[in-house]
Amino acid sequence: MKKIKSASKNIHPWSIGIKVNYLVTMKEKGQIIENAFIGIHKDIITFVGPYKPEYKKKSKKWIDLKNHIVMPGLINTHAHLAMTLFRGLEDDLPLKNWLFDKIFPAEAQFVTPSFVEVGTQLAAYECIRFGTTCSTDMYFYPEKGLQVWDKMGLRGHFSQPLISFPSPEGLPEQNQLLFNKFEKLYKKYLSHPRLSVGLAPHAPYTCSTDLLTQVAQYQERLGCLVQIHLAETVTEGDDIKNRYQKSPTQHLYELGLLNSKTICAHVVHTSKADQNLLQKTQTSLAHNPDSNFKLGSGIAPVTQYLKQNINVSLGTDGSASNNDLSLFGAMDLASKGQKVLSSDISSFKAWDALWMATQGGAKALGMSHLVGSIEVGKQADLIAIDTHFAHLTPLSDPASHLVYCTQGLEVDLTMVAGNILMENKKIKSKDFSSTLIKAQKIRNQMTRFLSSNKK
Ligand SMILES: [Zn+2]
Repeated sequence: MKKIKSASKNIHPWSIGIKVNYLVTMKEKGQIIENAFIGIHKDIITFVGPYKPEYKKKSKKWIDLKNHIVMPGLINTHAHLAMTLFRGLEDDLPLKNWLFDKIFPAEAQFVTPSFVEVGTQLAAYECIRFGTTCSTDMYFYPEKGLQVWDKMGLRGHFSQPLISFPSPEGLPEQNQLLFNKFEKLYKKYLSHPRLSVGLAPHAPYTCSTDLLTQVAQYQERLGCLVQIHLAETVTEGDDIKNRYQKSPTQHLYELGLLNSKTICAHVVHTSKADQNLLQKTQTSLAHNPDSNFKLGSGIAPVTQYLKQNINVSLGTDGSASNNDLSLFGAMDLASKGQKVLSSDISSFKAWDALWMATQGGAKALGMSHLVGSIEVGKQADLIAIDTHFAHLTPLSDPASHLVYCTQGLEVDLTMVAGNILMENKKIKSKDFSSTLIKAQKIRNQMTRFLSSNKK
């Protein structure tokens, strides 16, 4: 029996073998392998190279992808996942009115652990469908989000939000309880293969100096990741200047919050001095073009950041200000936004957008050794895009098609750590329909609440 067992192991060195027309590895910009083969053993990529016919019988499960592009799973470095339940609610208002008059009151009324569970579940389906294999989250009751992400097999980084205003998780004077909860969660997930936990002070204009200082102390002691909104609007810059006589970026720098383990979201309005601080501290940025465009916040000078070797990744922000979680839309808009901003159209290319959504995200999360490219030794987090569509034909440059033509629903295979979460555009989970029903029920209650508030 033993002999048979070991012989069968030799027959199948790969638990999954994938043959594909175009492999965009993202090992480096411009690298495409045509007629490629990827060999996967359990959760690890163990072979990448040109296809040979003998590879089929060495693969326990064989996936032959005709008319497809395979690329690394996309990485979303700024999202508020459970805000899927706010999708399309009170659109088209300026950021400050939208947040303080609409979103914060609705959150105070509705956000509970079970709300977060339904909203994050909905987000999980959306991420899998759009080929996002790893997402960050900045939303209340992160313990619920972590449970959902674990169950769904996704990779992610969840943060405990902190704010110097009353929130669904309590009053500002109760923030120490949230720090205590965070530390327990942080330690619980420290050795988890796919999930990690950090802190998320909301923004310089919504967090007191004391609160931000406390976050910096926790980060220094534990080495955890910190996510924060920064320099999103001109109003924020004026507000911080009035309060502290400095820019929001300078403010965070002086509090010790700019470093290689901090991800600053948006960073639309920065001076040359601010940019130098971001570069010097090796802080990563999360660019959210959909949200910045929709809220009229402006266009972040990403081309300039990249020129200065600042790591820029890509985010969607919450579904209330986007309104979806597709990084394909974000890549398209990121590239076009830079062309509007710069007189040099060629300074930002499709490959730059792809890099931000893969390698840039991996670096921001400290996961470059695990994900972000399809390479031997890395985790098998990958997606396949079906190109058998009119809008993706003819095809000669896969990078161009991925950024400028792909909408997201063409993704038909999503894999995380060697587990197939979606195959042939079918998600392997039974709760899909019931999640949609629960989400709509919550929305109906929210709509009634907001319309009664208007009276
Ligand atoms: Zn945000």
